[in-house]
Amino acid sequence: MTTTQFSSEEHNRYKAKAYAAANANSPLASITIPRRDPGEHDVQIEILFCGICHSDLHTVRNEWSAIPTVYPCVPGHEIVGRVTKVGSAVTKFEPGDIAAVGCLVDSDGNCPECQAGFEQYCPNMTLTYNSPDVQLGGVTYGGYSDSIVVKDHFVLRVPSNLDLAGVAPLLCAGITTYSPMRHWGVTKGKKVGVVGLGGLGHMAVKIAHALGAHVVVFTTSLNKKEDALRLGADEVVISRNTDQMRKHEGSFNFVLDAVSAEHDINSYLRLLCRDGNMTLVGAPDKPHAVAAFSLILKRRSLSGSNIGGIAQTQEMLDFCGKNNITADVEVIPIQKVNEAYDRLSKADVKYRFSIDMASLKSQ
Ligand code: NAP
Ligand code: ZN
Repeated sequence: MTTTQFSSEEHNRYKAKAYAAANANSPLASITIPRRDPGEHDVQIEILFCGICHSDLHTVRNEWSAIPTVYPCVPGHEIVGRVTKVGSAVTKFEPGDIAAVGCLVDSDGNCPECQAGFEQYCPNMTLTYNSPDVQLGGVTYGGYSDSIVVKDHFVLRVPSNLDLAGVAPLLCAGITTYSPMRHWGVTKGKKVGVVGLGGLGHMAVKIAHALGAHVVVFTTSLNKKEDALRLGADEVVISRNTDQMRKHEGSFNFVLDAVSAEHDINSYLRLLCRDGNMTLVGAPDKPHAVAAFSLILKRRSLSGSNIGGIAQTQEMLDFCGKNNITADVEVIPIQKVNEAYDRLSKADVKYRFSIDMASLKSQ
């Protein structure tokens, strides 16, 4: 796909307020962007909260060589808001409903992945930002904005008992950790490691705990120990302490690696028991070095996982509703987004920034 493709349908546009980065080194700043008028299958949402994912930071700073950033870049894929308009064919939502959008806004719908409910592995998926926008041309613009227009299939329902600022991060951090844990059979009686107590990591702890697992957090930050226990961890290991690490060797069924930066994964692979699995969700650009013997000796496996499909995202939201799970958020006005990015790059957030989008009105 190219960034200049247009669909045959002509779309009228309206102007939305947003925050964008003009290049890899500039701070995010106020901008006006085009959004399409809702078509017959579209839902228009007034955005109330948008979480800040480390992927936003990787993208804004153009850190992923495999996915170059197109500027201006409006990040944000942890979106919750109120429906303001629906197209004539939309039956699932009506104006006034609370609705959510995650990392995906479209996919081809016909390929084997889509047919199986794995829209996140569709070769033609459209990400919420920095993906070719087939309707308007250019690239898609994400949730650091006052509104968004999304095809109804990609819009999720929000359980009514949950706080909305804390719901927003479920749309990426929640599903990205829930999906591999369900795939690899995290349940009661399983020993589960979570590496990196950031936005994804803290959701993984809450979800694994709710699934009944014995949860061990591996952190580089001494000061996160008490929080990890409060969030639902049974044990906390300071990962730079090799004696503490060695005690756990060969004992884990599953380890989720949610680290955003370069690190040695072999010390975590060695924690796995026979047939144990470690899944990478953290996405540093630099390739990991894997020692063959880290895997061979106990028939261990190493895999990756990309967000989650739409049906499973709804399942995760319902699970969070039932278990009263939301993210621990620091709510900020959009004007503090650059400060938030600086702190995120230093692993200094407890545990997700959630932007109160009402702050964009004064912009
Ligand atoms: P985050 O909030 O910044 O958390 C990352 C955590 O990694 C930090 O809190 C820190 O935990 C640890 N860390 C950071 N630098 C480290 C270093 N140099 N060595 C060891 N540990 C370090 O980020 P996030 O939003 O959770 O995202 C985490 C990663 O997942 C990012 O790379 C993001 O792009 C990726 N991601 C992937 C998917 C997917 O679908 N696969 C979806 C969303 C995000 P401690 O302080 O506890 O050590
Ligand atoms: Zn994300």
